[in-house]
Parts: sequence; structure tokens; C-alpha cells
Amino acid sequence: MAQQADLIIENARVLTMDGASPRAEALAIGGDRLLAVGTHEEVAELRSASTEIIDADGATVLPGFIESHMHIFAGSTQLDSLSLAGLAGFDAVAGAVRRRSEERPGERLLVAEQAQYGILGGEPLDRHTLDRILPAKPLALYAADHHTMWANTAALEAAGLLRGAVVPAGSEIVIGPDGLAGGELREFGAFERLVEMTACGGRDMLGLSTGRDPAVPPMDAERAADRDVLRKGLAYCASLGITSFHNMDGNRYQLELLDDIDRAEGLPVRARMCFRMLPGMPLSDFAEAVEQRRRWSSSRLTMDFVKMFMDGVVESTTAFMLANYSGRPGVSGEALFGQAEFDAICIEADRLGFQIAVHAIGDGAVRRTLDGYAAARRANGVRDSRHRVEHIEVLDVRDLPRFAELGVIASMQPTHAAGPVFPVQPYASLIGPERLRLSFAWQTIRETGARLAFASDWPVAPLDPLLGVRAAMTRTRAADDAPDQRQTLLDALAGFTADGAYAEFAEDTKGRLRAGLLADVVVLSGDVESMTPEAVDELKVACTICDGRVVYRARA
Ligand SMILES: [Zn+2]
Repeated sequence: MAQQADLIIENARVLTMDGASPRAEALAIGGDRLLAVGTHEEVAELRSASTEIIDADGATVLPGFIESHMHIFAGSTQLDSLSLAGLAGFDAVAGAVRRRSEERPGERLLVAEQAQYGILGGEPLDRHTLDRILPAKPLALYAADHHTMWANTAALEAAGLLRGAVVPAGSEIVIGPDGLAGGELREFGAFERLVEMTACGGRDMLGLSTGRDPAVPPMDAERAADRDVLRKGLAYCASLGITSFHNMDGNRYQLELLDDIDRAEGLPVRARMCFRMLPGMPLSDFAEAVEQRRRWSSSRLTMDFVKMFMDGVVESTTAFMLANYSGRPGVSGEALFGQAEFDAICIEADRLGFQIAVHAIGDGAVRRTLDGYAAARRANGVRDSRHRVEHIEVLDVRDLPRFAELGVIASMQPTHAAGPVFPVQPYASLIGPERLRLSFAWQTIRETGARLAFASDWPVAPLDPLLGVRAAMTRTRAADDAPDQRQTLLDALAGFTADGAYAEFAEDTKGRLRAGLLADVVVLSGDVESMTPEAVDELKVACTICDGRVVYRARA
């Protein structure tokens, strides 16, 4: 007799993302696996008296979303911060900041997140303007991309940055005309001391900044507090239908915290973590990565890839370009790794069987990264390595065919190219019209035969995958004669499901709905195929199932 189902979802429009059998009406789950995906009749055969039934009421059912690039600890922390998302102009920002200051009088440093470059409109984003918003108390605005922070005088003073400080290469404390710090702090090394003043003591940002563990081992109470922060973030992922994520920062401490949660109650979302490699680190440090990979290799918590940053971001001209920024003679950004050092790291990581993922935003950074992957292939031979380039905002046309040639995955974030009007400023003027034509070139890259994976980069952009689907489908052209980068509904959905699974070598266990695969499923609140692209994100998640367990259910 066939195994009986613990859970059946019926009356559904199932999009399986499985080319062999793309549609179904129902599915059955037993333990952590899908038992059947098919017609009502086929699935009903597995029903018993104790089977739980979920009536999808004609809504779309998909494989659980796979978020291929995000930052769980930083994102979880931000759930409790003031968000400036969608705000513009001095009055709007000042109002939000002052309200928060009144609500939380005890905060050592008021951090506001999600500030866009130029959020104050005509006003300069410097310490003098921020002093007018909040004169006495330390205030810092985090750029949405986390590559820049703006601080008022009290914050700069409290962190010991007002008179400048020695910061690592690639970071910069911008000095004002009076010889003091002007308030703009570029890259983590410049604002690290401010981050240490936040509620998590900066522990949430270590995986991103250095990949190292806290210098002083956290006390039990701090560990417990950090776990609770992560629990909120994991629950938030589940509420958006996410059943797996690829975390693009990491350290041993994060792995331990997630492991603690998994042992206590089972992670509600599968976490795939990475090992951070920084310029100057010896190749022998990979011994630690090998040890972490050996220790964490379950279906819910794995550490199996290497993450690096090749450059910064366009807005602060820290993205590494092949040619100068438009209207900025002599400014082309800087690569964080020299080619020889980067090649050596790639060769060793590849030899050890690690997938490599590199943040590369400028066309120069993308080329250097692809060159490193090519060097690894020459040294170690061709294998199914699936190395990845993250972001690829600007691309030189000569590098376009190399993704498919080298089997490299283009990991891209649709919402990053979806301002109210694309291209947003100051982005467009810094890149200039020529390079804009091949910016965020999702479809152009797809048409070369390369594989893509889609993600949000949360908390850089909102986490909701349906916002990503909408952004992918509604992208406006960079110019009238620029290629159309819009994605079809199915390509956009695949970017958040099947293609995400491929990007982590898991296409045989998840990312599609097929009997025998892991039971990771999302039930939406309506039929996604009946929505206009502009309205896709009006749908909500009705229910999320991860590892065969219901981990989120919308309130009726
Ligand atoms: Zn990121």
C-alpha cells in the first residue's frame, strides 16, 4: 500500500516549475517529502483519516521560494530599526527620526535604515544637515545598500571619528572643508565604530565586514538575544514563502546560532551559509572553511561556498569600472583584490571543491572575477563548479558570452533596477548613457544561454520575492534603443525557485514540485497568472511549508 499523506493541498493551481509536468491540481506530503503531485484523484488516493487538508481555493501553489542572495543577521536586526524606505526630503526624514527618538529615548545611537543616496533632495547629506534633524543625540543613516553611512556630529564624536581616523583601504571618512569629518562614511571600515554602538553591538555585521567572529566571545545573554533576533528574521522569511536562502555573509558565530535554533526547534527556513575570504588572508585559512563544511552539511543548515567582494557600489564610486565614471576624470573605483591574488584564491577554493560567489558591480570587477574563474578552470580542469557573480550591474559586452562559456551563474537582484523611474539618480549620471545600455542586463545575459538566479539582497532591498517578480516583469528600458530586459512570469518565478536550487547544486532535491523531492511549498492568496505584472505583489502568502512542516499560515 502506498504511504499515506500527512498533508494534502487540494483545489490548487500548482505551478511545479518542472518542465516534464508543469501543472497539477493537488499535492501530497509525507514526512519531509512530496509523495505525489498530480490530479485531485491521484492525490486523494493517499488521503487517510488523519491527513491534514489545506484547501488552496484556486490559488497558485509553487515550490517554496529560494532567495539566492541575502544577509540573515543584518536583515533580522533591521526588522527592529527605523526604516526610511519610500521617504524623501528633509521634512519627511526629520519627522520620522524625531518620532523614533521620542519612542526610544534610551537608544545609544539612533540608526535609520534604507536611506537612498540623495534622500534629502536639495539638502546636502552631511553632519550639519543631520544636526538640524537631531542636534544632541547620535544619529546615523544607513544607505540601503549598506556601503555608506551618514552621521551627525554627536555620532561622529561618540565614535571618535570627528577628527578623522585611520581606516582600511577601500574605506573613507569623507573630510569636510573645515578639516573635520563631513558626515559621509564610505564602506564598512569607515563606520565600523558606529555599528559597534548598535543594539547587537555590531555582531550582526561581522559576517559581512570581516567574516571573523566577535573578538570577545559573546556572553550567554548576548547569544540568547542574538538568537531571538535571528528567530524573528527566520519567521519573517517564512511569512514571505521563503523556504531556503543563500546567505552572502558568514562567520562561525552565525553558524553556531543557527545550529542552536535548529537543534531547539528546527529551522523554519533552510540556511546555506558561506565562508568569507578577504584580501590578504592566507590560503591556509581555507582549512577553517573545510572544517565548517564538514560540520554543517544537513539539508537545513549547510556551509559550502566561498564569498568575496571584488568592489563596492556605483553610488559612492567604489564600484570598479573599466573606464572612468562619467564626468569624474581619474575616478574609476578600485578592485579589492589584485588579479594574481584573486586567481590564486579561486584556484585553491575550486581545487577544494567550493563554489565561489563574488560581489562584482562594476564592469571591471565583473571581468576580474570571470578571469579568476577562468584561471581556476585552467589550473584544475573543467568541472561542474557553478561559480557565481553577484549583482553584475555594469557589464562590458566582451564579457557577455563568458558566463555561458565558463558555466558561471549570474546572480541578479531585480528590485535593484526598479526605482520609480529607472535609471535612478545619481546612478545614471555616474554610469553614463553608454554603459547604462548593458546595466542589469538580465534578459541579454539569459539569451546567451547562461543560468540566472534571482534574489533581493535583503536588507539592501525588501525581501518579498513577489516584489522581485514584479520588478523583473515590469522593468523599464534604460533608453529607447536599449535592450528590453523584462522577464516572463515563468522565468521570474524560476529565478526564485528552480534556478535558485540549481545555483546551490540542489536541483535534484528542491526548487520544483515533483514526487520524491523535499516538501518545500508555498501557497499564495490568489492566482498569480491572472494578475497583471504590476499587481503581482498584491498577492500574499497564505501558507508556507518547509521540510514538510507548516511554518507559516496567514491569519484568516
Ligand atoms: Zn549582498
